[in-house]
Amino acid sequence: MKYLSTRNSKIKVEASEAILKGLSEDGGLFVPETMPVLKKSLKELSAMTYREVAYEVMSLFLTDYTKEELTACIDAAYDEKFEVPDIADLHKANGAWFLELWHGKTIAFKDMALSILPHLLTTAARKNNIKDEIVILTATSGDTGKAALAGFADVPGTRIIVFYPKDGVSRVQELQMVTQKGKNTKVIAIRGNFDDAQNGVKEMFNDKELAKKLSDKGLRFSSANSINIGRLVPQVVYYVWAYAKLLEKGEVKDGEEINITVPTGNFGNILAAYYAKQIGLPVNKLICASNDNKVLYDFFKTGTYDRNRDFILTTSPSMDILISSNLERLIYHSSGNDAEKCAELMNELKTTGKYTVTSDMKERMKDFTGGFAVQSEVSEIISKIYKNDGYTIDTHTAVGAFVADRYRKETGDDHLTVIASTASPYKFSRAVVGAIREKEFKTEDDFALIGMLKELSGLPLPGAVKEIMDAEILHDTVCEKDKMKSEVEKALSL
Ligand SMILES: *Cc1c(COP(=O)(O)O)cnc(C)c1O
Repeated sequence: MKYLSTRNSKIKVEASEAILKGLSEDGGLFVPETMPVLKKSLKELSAMTYREVAYEVMSLFLTDYTKEELTACIDAAYDEKFEVPDIADLHKANGAWFLELWHGKTIAFKDMALSILPHLLTTAARKNNIKDEIVILTATSGDTGKAALAGFADVPGTRIIVFYPKDGVSRVQELQMVTQKGKNTKVIAIRGNFDDAQNGVKEMFNDKELAKKLSDKGLRFSSANSINIGRLVPQVVYYVWAYAKLLEKGEVKDGEEINITVPTGNFGNILAAYYAKQIGLPVNKLICASNDNKVLYDFFKTGTYDRNRDFILTTSPSMDILISSNLERLIYHSSGNDAEKCAELMNELKTTGKYTVTSDMKERMKDFTGGFAVQSEVSEIISKIYKNDGYTIDTHTAVGAFVADRYRKETGDDHLTVIASTASPYKFSRAVVGAIREKEFKTEDDFALIGMLKELSGLPLPGAVKEIMDAEILHDTVCEKDKMKSEVEKALSL
């Protein structure tokens, strides 16, 4: 199976090339030419381990990897780095199933894909006879950065540069990044928000002059952001795995449709759920949950995507995004794979900050519904689930929980609901403890709050938190948002 650019159907590459490139040269994203279908029945999948399900799903999409290559990548990624034997976990609370995706090294769901991406990428380089060193250039709203750093640190043949918004991440997120070890790592804070960081990175990807300078030095860029299909494909796995586990537990009947709610930012995680549905997973609704930056909620309601609005910093910073990159893939699919139409809308987005889809396109997106939760509602649901179920969730997952709850009440749709639980509450202790204790903690030390959360939740302290407690700060560069390129040139001595 080949991959096409969402903006030019003449660009057609193998999966491994798409992973190497990250983004197509015309600025488009790579999408599978056709949707594969699961070869194994749900019943058969229900008897499999996470790694086995991963192989079943990923081999459908990454067709130019041999069985040996793909199995080696999967085995290297999904091992004891994860703190639960099944890699992910399911927990029932508040009438829904929370799919805990944060038992990896950096305690956010990004580990699910970023623990395998370096292996997929270095394998792709080998397969394509690439001798250049690969420079991973990444913008992060907090979690991707650390998960990518952890995945790529000291991986031979790679370097990684991460940009994050200086005041747009939690203290724990920031500490996790700036204490990153590894000779090939570089972390830079920018004075701007996530969209600024993401735009700066996208510009560098499309900068021909920069590409030339890189290639003169034997370097080339690739992306660890969810625009890379090497991020997206591993994310399809856990939705299939979750269904298989629910079937094994007798919670769903074979073929019974479920709803999936995903706290959304860049639209990567929920797009993976959509792909899971496309390959045959019985899914009814995909519920896209936003925080106060509810550009996606408005989009699904009206058909108009409009980023011309204030950027709001919330207690769920990894979802503070106004340009959800992966939506481009849904736009493409819903236009009937019309690259010209997609390019036209994306150009409008670039020039005017908005676009409106046709009524046909809107109709083809009816698997999706949007919802949002403002910060007070996030606190409310954290506290409610803590009191009623004794279960502690983080602020991002709480956006999903609140939206799932409201959707069920408003529509009466009572399909079994899986909520993607995207981060450990320890990553956002200040807001989570504040919600449970119904008090704002402004000045308390972050580690004191982590201690309080441990008392309240009874959750074991993850290795990721212990690690940063007395780690040395190794990265302290801060730059203006229009100086990202010169920082990259400096870091790579171009
Ligand atoms: C990245 C992230 C999200 C948003 O996921 P997208 O794939 O960008 O939509 C939600 N929650 C957490 C904790 C995250 O790290």
